[in-house]
Amino acid sequence: MTTHERPVDSVLETIGRTPLVRLHETPGTVRIYAKLESFNPGASVKDRIGRYMLERMLERGDVPAGGTVIEPTAGNTGIGLAIAAEQLGLDAIFVVPERFSLEKQQLMSALGAKVINTPTEDGMGGAIDRANQLAEELDDAAVPQQFSNPLNTEAHYETTAPEIYEALDGEVGAVVAGCGTAGTLMGIARYALEQDAATHVTAVEPEGSVYGELFDEDREEDEYKTEGIGTHDTGTNELFDPELVDDIQAVADSEAHDELKRLAREEGHLVASSAGAASVAAKRVARRIDEGELETPHDTIVTVFPDSSERYLSKGIYRSFEEWTS
Ligand code: PMP
Repeated sequence: MTTHERPVDSVLETIGRTPLVRLHETPGTVRIYAKLESFNPGASVKDRIGRYMLERMLERGDVPAGGTVIEPTAGNTGIGLAIAAEQLGLDAIFVVPERFSLEKQQLMSALGAKVINTPTEDGMGGAIDRANQLAEELDDAAVPQQFSNPLNTEAHYETTAPEIYEALDGEVGAVVAGCGTAGTLMGIARYALEQDAATHVTAVEPEGSVYGELFDEDREEDEYKTEGIGTHDTGTNELFDPELVDDIQAVADSEAHDELKRLAREEGHLVASSAGAASVAAKRVARRIDEGELETPHDTIVTVFPDSSERYLSKGIYRSFEEWTS
C-alpha cells in the first residue's frame, strides 16, 4: 500500500506508506528499489520517528501531557517531531548546529517550534549537551534523543520495514541504507534478518565519517558535505549495531553529488546527498551480485531515499561540486 486513498482526520495519519520505486541504472537481472521518504508530510523519513517516539513517550509517561520536547537535530528530525508535537499537544525546542540547512530551520519555526543554534565546530555532540542542559532547566521537558533512543529503531522496524516486505512480497535480497543515527538501517535490518538471516545488509556513510571504525575498518576522519549521514563523534552512533551489518560502504561527496544529479536528470527523483550516497552504494552491491561475488536470497536490493533536494537548493545542491556548500 503506497497511497492514502481514504480521507483521514490528522496529518499524522499520512505518515508512512511511501512509494517504493525501481531504479534503472542496474546490471543484469538485479533490481534496486528506493523507498521515497519525501512523500511524508514533513518531506522526510524522520516524520516516522517524530510520530512514533512522541506517541510512545506520552503513553509511557516519559513526557507529561502538555509538556515540552527538546531535541538535538540536523533538521529533519526537528521537522518530524514538530509536526507530531503540535498535533499531540506538546511544545518543541530544537538545538541545531549552525551548519545545517536554513530551509530546515525555517520549517521547524513555521511548525511552531523554537530553534536554538550551537556552533558548527562543537559538532552534534555540542548540540546534544546543550539539549540535555536545557531539559534539566525545565521540569516538564523530555529529550527523545534520537541518537540513543531504541524507539527510533523500533519506528522503522514497525513501519518502514513491513511496508517494504509487503510491497515486494517478502522478496528482499539486500538492504542498503545511510546511517545518521542508524535508526533507519537498524530497524529495517532487524526485521529483514528475522525474515531471512541470509539477507545482505549494507550500511552507507560519507568518506570522512568514522562508522567504519566500529566495523574494524580504517577510516580517516574528515569533513564531508553529504548531509544527514555519517558520524564524527561517539555520541551519535549508539544505535549502530555492527552485528546486524555485513559491510559498510564509504561514498565520496563527489560521487554522491554526481549521483543525485543523475537521479534527477534520468530518473525524475528530486533527492538530496544522502540519497545519492545510498544509490551509489546500492549499485556497488548490485554489481557484486551480478558478478557472482555476493550471494543473496533474491536479486532485489532495497534502499531508502530519506528526503528531497528542495530542502538544499540554497546550498547549491544542483550546482557544480565546488559550488555545493555544506
Ligand atoms: N538522510 C538525511 C537527509 C537525514 O536527515 C538522516 C537523518 N539524520 C538520514 C539520512 C539518516 O537516517 P538515520 O538517522 O535513521 O540513520
